[in-house]
Amino acid sequence: MPKSFPNYRLKSGWNALLPARDVQPALFGKLAADVVIIGAGFTGLACARRWQQISPDARVVVIDASEIGEGNPGRNSGFLLDVALAEDAKPDNMQRMLECNRLTQEAMQSIVRDVEASGQAVDLQRAGTYRAAASDAGVKSLENYKLFLEGAGLPYRQLDQADLETELGTPFFRSGLFSPDCYLAQPASVIRAIHQQLPDSVTVYENTPALEINKTGINWVVNTPQGELTCSQLVLANNSFAKNLGINRSRLVGVYTYAGLTPRLNDSMLETLGSNPNWGLLPAHRLGSTLRRTADGRLLVRSLHSYEQEITGQKIRHELQDRMWRRFPQLRGQDFEHVWGGAVGVTYNGAPVWGQQGPGLFASTGCNGGGTVKGTMLGATLADLAHGKTVPDIASLFGSPSWMPPDPLRSIGFHLTAALESWQGRQER
Ligand SMILES: Cc1cc2nc3c(=O)[nH]c(=O)nc-3n(C[C@H](O)[C@H](O)[C@H](O)COP(=O)(O)OP(=O)(O)OC[C@H]3O[C@@H](n4cnc5c(N)ncnc54)[C@H](O)[C@@H]3O)c2cc1C
Repeated sequence: MPKSFPNYRLKSGWNALLPARDVQPALFGKLAADVVIIGAGFTGLACARRWQQISPDARVVVIDASEIGEGNPGRNSGFLLDVALAEDAKPDNMQRMLECNRLTQEAMQSIVRDVEASGQAVDLQRAGTYRAAASDAGVKSLENYKLFLEGAGLPYRQLDQADLETELGTPFFRSGLFSPDCYLAQPASVIRAIHQQLPDSVTVYENTPALEINKTGINWVVNTPQGELTCSQLVLANNSFAKNLGINRSRLVGVYTYAGLTPRLNDSMLETLGSNPNWGLLPAHRLGSTLRRTADGRLLVRSLHSYEQEITGQKIRHELQDRMWRRFPQLRGQDFEHVWGGAVGVTYNGAPVWGQQGPGLFASTGCNGGGTVKGTMLGATLADLAHGKTVPDIASLFGSPSWMPPDPLRSIGFHLTAALESWQGRQER
């Protein structure tokens, strides 16, 4: 039986760098609520916030299997993109793209407001992002993204290999684009700040996984290890694990990807890493590697994928070291302070699973590799939908998730596609 919630082998490196916080107690006993939201990620917390704004007297309960900052939202690479992702960028439909951009930009501003209002020292800067390619296929994909940026009237700089080496300290990439429309963040501190800004009337239970959901009469019942929640409206914001609770099994898979973060590098190493002290780089191929140099002088590498199961820490370390050393030979021998994995909710065509799934049942999951800002927007919009408000046409804007065959065909398909794409994008790994 697939697990209904994540239980990671390795701790989030981002969260490990932060001071300990007071964890909200787990749910114990039976409780009734108006709405229960499963998952306290970017999606779930945005939904809770909007729900409470629309229905201030509603009993809004959020449960999460993990702790705020330690779970999935505190495990990503910290790119908060406030324009469409490369995979969503379709230059041939610019009207649609501009509307997607407007929605994600609004969501980004709500994150910025929460972080500012929290008064916490959160590393969140509009540092922009590089996209860079090492192969012909990668260069072609950058050309497509350039068309989108031009069509959308968004600023960018084009870089050649020498420019990239000057700014980032690596000769690995042949060509690149720099776009200022991205925030770089310490994601665990951002999600902590968002959680801190929730009104007191929203109750969050940490370390409280939903094991099972059942419809009983007009209500939904959510079973947790030591408790039970009854509600008239239920929201699944728990990413790929929604399918293990029985929702959208045929459209959603869990793909694990991995990150490694070095300790703060010494000054002589940092001097070899180019002129830009705080940058992020997204790969031109979807199975490529993401890189960051953090404001406090660390390098992050995000790469590798596995289907529905986490790989071991030893393998993660070994593979990520190889990627770091190939890009930065001057760092050969440098190890990571932390390595970890996280589950990404993936759909075949990249479109989110979003909307009403049945009476009193809503879901927003499957943001693929870029759900921090998009999830924030979709979570808030889901609360609007549940209250009967007029909402943007999410399916027209972001697509509808396509059907996938069940396992074992699905797993075979994933491994074949991954092997083919890994081969095609091998120079970007
Ligand atoms: C290594 C890595 C790097 C990434 N980098 C980026 C990036 O730079 N930028 C970006 O935008 N995206 C990135 N992503 C993807 C990003 O993390 C997701 O798209 C985003 O977190 C989705 O937000 P969410 O709130 O929808 O889901 P999640 O962040 O997955 O949150 C879901 C929450 O539900 C909880 N949960 C799951 N099952 C249950 C259950 N049964 N009961 C209770 N709680 C449950 C989980 O603990 C989790 O807190 C990355 C992902 C990984 C793994």
